Amino acid sequence: MSADGVCSACGADVVFVRSETSKATMILDVKTEKHVLLLDYGKPAYSIDAVRQALEAGLATARVTSVFTDHHATCPHADQFRRST
Ligand SMILES: [Zn+2]
Repeated sequence: MSADGVCSACGADVVFVRSETSKATMILDVKTEKHVLLLDYGKPAYSIDAVRQALEAGLATARVTSVFTDHHATCPHADQFRRST
């Protein structure tokens, strides 16, 4: 399967990537958005509590990064993906 493709519902350019955790195929927008990644002790922080602890220790930083969006969140025809099971 090619990584690049087109959404069958809206025709947008997308990229297909396997989820690290579920191994299911994810459909992502090719276009990236800028977001801010918070780091605690030099590693990505995934909770605000971890960031607060690192802030108190003076070891929290922020990094502007490009991220991809799940196409299901942006597709104007996303309702077509939700088929009854
Ligand atoms: Zn679409």
